[in-house]
Amino acid sequence: MFLPQEIIRKKRDGEILTREEIRFFIQGVADNTISESQIGAFAMAMFFNDMTMEERTDLTCAMRDSGMVINWEHMSFDGPVVDKHSTGGVGDVTSLMLGPMVAACGGYVPMISGRGLGHTGGTLDKLESIPGYNITPDTETFRSVTQEAGVAVIGQTGNLAPADKRIYAVRDITATVDNISLITSSILSKKLAAGLDSLVMDIKVGSGAFMPTYEKSEELAKSIVAVANGAGTKTTAILTDMNQVLASSAGNALEVREAVRFLTGDYRNPRLFEVTMALSAEMLVLGNLAETTADARDKLQTVLDNGRAAECFNIMVARLGGPADFTGNYEAYLDKADVIKPVYAKVDGIVSAMDTRAIGMAVVSMGGGRRVPTDNIDYAVGFDQFIKLGEVASRDKPLAVIHARSEAQWAEAASALQQAITVGPDAYIATPDIYRQIRAEEV
Ligand code: URA
Repeated sequence: MFLPQEIIRKKRDGEILTREEIRFFIQGVADNTISESQIGAFAMAMFFNDMTMEERTDLTCAMRDSGMVINWEHMSFDGPVVDKHSTGGVGDVTSLMLGPMVAACGGYVPMISGRGLGHTGGTLDKLESIPGYNITPDTETFRSVTQEAGVAVIGQTGNLAPADKRIYAVRDITATVDNISLITSSILSKKLAAGLDSLVMDIKVGSGAFMPTYEKSEELAKSIVAVANGAGTKTTAILTDMNQVLASSAGNALEVREAVRFLTGDYRNPRLFEVTMALSAEMLVLGNLAETTADARDKLQTVLDNGRAAECFNIMVARLGGPADFTGNYEAYLDKADVIKPVYAKVDGIVSAMDTRAIGMAVVSMGGGRRVPTDNIDYAVGFDQFIKLGEVASRDKPLAVIHARSEAQWAEAASALQQAITVGPDAYIATPDIYRQIRAEEV
């Protein structure tokens, strides 16, 4: 029998907690026998004294096991259960292509996604721009869609990692969010509760990333790879660039449109293609669906070319309540804004930097994201035809096309983009799309 205050004291004094102590504390969080103030003190003690990788792994497993852990064993899957998670970005619509692409190559992707957070877009919000799409199906439907389409992208079902929900709410109001041990356990407890065989983590780097520096992103990536593998889920992290909008668009329906055009081969933004391919290829390798990255890329290219990936996406949409002909007829289903006009830079010149966070916030300001959880979303608003770093902005080349509800909203968004995008005579120093990959054996 332990005492919560003794566990907090040990961590406050810089000692290492045992697996049993961590399990006891998290059990108390889940069954409400541990108070909010004790959670706050525990989080602050972690913040100052940090945790070993072993403690992080024990914390993650305890949080994962605080609720339901999905078991896929009784399903007749003939492939691995694999998933991807990202730390969040702007114009990051990779999940909508990657899920169907991996499914078309023989993986099963039961992806439990989140809503937009701060300046970053949320996969669930994007999917809700598809009329009828149900992001909260019952567990049986979730299982059967994963079986039939190979992919089901939905919101939190049932009772996954309830301890994280309580701890995160307390961290949010006690200045203890930005701690790598706590972030690792929080992200992984929810993902690992989905019963995955393997996981690829996309850790963003740059002006629109959750972590403030490359070094911090790398530290988080290493922590996640060590802990997830320690918890028994084969995991690789890939550090990808978020110094500019990833896709050509940012905004819910606009990104869905871009995802469908990507899958059907209408248009593939090269950066989005590179990042999606890198993440999906590693999913195939980890899931033993391909021997090498090159082999995986060939397989992925094949399912893009033969339409099988687009088909998986369409089956998922239809089975989750969306239109049966969505990929063929998306223009008829997606809501459109009223004022659609380009915005130009104030001076001609090379695009040398983007404040990607500010661009994400501009989408939120237009109603494309939430400031408080109860806000309604306007799915139609946002940007498309986004200029890229290193391109020349001119009278022939706008910064982006703005999709707004009104002229006034258009003008506000135009001014936000002109401020967020640096244009001038300076040469642009290119950043890579992919910085590095960190596999289990490297941590
Ligand atoms: N996202 C999470 O789910 N948890 C964190 O702690 C930070 C980001």
